[in-house]
Amino acid sequence: MGALLPAPIGVFGGTFDPIHFGHLRPALDLLEQLSLQRLHLIPCAVPPHRGEPHASAAQRLAMLELAVAGQPGFVVDERELRRSGPSYMVDTLASLRAEVGETPLCLILGVDAFLGLPGWHRWQRLLELAHIVVTHRPGWQLDETSMPQALRQAVQEHWLADGAALRAQSAGGVLLQSVTQLDISATDIRERIAAGYSANYLLPVTVWQYIQEQDLYR
Ligand code: ATP
Repeated sequence: MGALLPAPIGVFGGTFDPIHFGHLRPALDLLEQLSLQRLHLIPCAVPPHRGEPHASAAQRLAMLELAVAGQPGFVVDERELRRSGPSYMVDTLASLRAEVGETPLCLILGVDAFLGLPGWHRWQRLLELAHIVVTHRPGWQLDETSMPQALRQAVQEHWLADGAALRAQSAGGVLLQSVTQLDISATDIRERIAAGYSANYLLPVTVWQYIQEQDLYR
């Protein structure tokens, strides 16, 4: 086996409207389990696959900053907010790749996002730029029947046996990783708040305080 590459960098994109423990705890699991050197949390500006976010870009960014405060290894990365046009992950990975040289990049996707991959802009290029780490999410199954055929074919030669294999190459592997299962979604949080209920204990208390101060999601 050739020389090992530097420890991988995690790339976790999302709308984060708002960020919650269903994002944060699995991300911390991956930071530790995969010995990532750091993990970039990347809020999208204009999500290509869904409607406009409810909170502004500045508010989603502020909530991310509050959520990661004091957690070593978590980096809030604003590059998609600084770019104009739709936030395509392929462009984000290309810009990160230009910065990090051969260091392995790990694109982190919940099973729900992974199953939707064939709808993403230039999705087949993603594996040339990064590994893909798929995390379990309550309510979503990953098996032969749930995977669209195009996705199954595209990844079938790419499955990695374990996290150690992420350091043998810069990109191109697909790893299924178990993380803490938390059945939390941003949609559910927004609906609770709109109905006048509390979102406490579903996300960091600093984020919940910010949501109340800004009168978000009501
Ligand atoms: P919404 O309900 O608004 O669609 P969300 O809670 O699914 O939001 P996103 O910002 O759309 O959050 O998700 C970003 C990424 O986080 C996706 O890859 C998604 O699969 C993953 N993710 C979100 N919530 C969880 C969870 N509870 N467990 C595991 N992965 C999650």
